Amino acid sequence: MVNRAIKYRAYPTTEQEVIFAKTFGCCRKVWNLMLSDKITYYRTTGESLQTTPAMYKKDYVFLKEVDSLALANVQMNLQKAYKNCFDKKRKKRNGFPKFKSRKHTRKSYTTNNQKGTVAIVDNKYIKLPKIGLVKAVIHRQPEADWIIKSATVSQESDGTFYISILFEYEKNIVKISKSNNVIGLDYKSDGLYMDSNGNIGSNHKYYKESHKKLAREQRKLSRKVGSKKNQIKSNNYLKQLKKVNKIHRHIANQRLDNLHKLSTEIANQYDVVCVESLDMKAMSNKGFGNGKATLDNGYGLFLNMLEYKLFDKGKYFIKVDKWYPSSQLCSCCGNRKKLTLTDRVYKCDCGFKLDRDYNAAINIKNEGLRLLEVA
Ligand SMILES: [Zn+2]
Repeated sequence: MVNRAIKYRAYPTTEQEVIFAKTFGCCRKVWNLMLSDKITYYRTTGESLQTTPAMYKKDYVFLKEVDSLALANVQMNLQKAYKNCFDKKRKKRNGFPKFKSRKHTRKSYTTNNQKGTVAIVDNKYIKLPKIGLVKAVIHRQPEADWIIKSATVSQESDGTFYISILFEYEKNIVKISKSNNVIGLDYKSDGLYMDSNGNIGSNHKYYKESHKKLAREQRKLSRKVGSKKNQIKSNNYLKQLKKVNKIHRHIANQRLDNLHKLSTEIANQYDVVCVESLDMKAMSNKGFGNGKATLDNGYGLFLNMLEYKLFDKGKYFIKVDKWYPSSQLCSCCGNRKKLTLTDRVYKCDCGFKLDRDYNAAINIKNEGLRLLEVA
């Protein structure tokens, strides 16, 4: 069995926020009560005290109001911390468990799934015990056979909420054979990639309209009072700035959606995906002409998504060395020659002729397959 956690951004209602805050507080309280009793008991008797959250519910009635599994997990964590601290065999021993202060403690709690008490509902809610449905951005769907183990609710210092869901699943490794579906991807700075079947993966067409809109609103912004240096920003300027930022966010979301869509399609369709390992920083600076396009198109992000999606399916993500001359080799006869940046077509003396990126993608695929056999 393999575990994987996915962290979702959550948008609780005001009522739900109140319950979250209560639960964070109760977890902290129970931790401190148990720790304090353990210490006192040990000092007076020399033995360790077994504590449970139930022991405190009489004196602190409010503990009854929150998710009891959250408190049970606090008990487990404290026990673990205790054990680690006294375990002499552990290489990295943690110190003695500390009391949790209101100010400096991370606001979070963990609850367990008991036959569907934690669930992703309608692709827009996360169901939690004692809370109900919490609105969330389900940017990633679990695979059909993944089982929810637990959920951890947390609040960042800026006030935003997240719910991290821990999944468990059986991992089946895809066997390597001649019948595997294999593809190679070559990076394309003016798109996203060209694959070894000659198809272009692009993320441009999806938000062309938004870019037009952005340019229009940015022009408007530049005409408002406050756009110049040292000018006091007018209300109209700030209003327009909000509009521009909203479009920026919209474009970022569109791009992310598209990268997810493309990477999911490839991970579903192919067993082995070969790519060139790229130094994105170096690429943005030189050699590829347009640094902005490189950073902008999210290829690095795309490769990350591809890697974990293939991994989850027990499939293969093969990185070809960045020095491998994928664009210089003839994918037909193996001959090597230098192309200039403006050569869009690879023409070989053997008579072979193909689009430069298409040829490179085939080379990357072949090199990836060679590496896979060696490994
Ligand atoms: Zn050739």
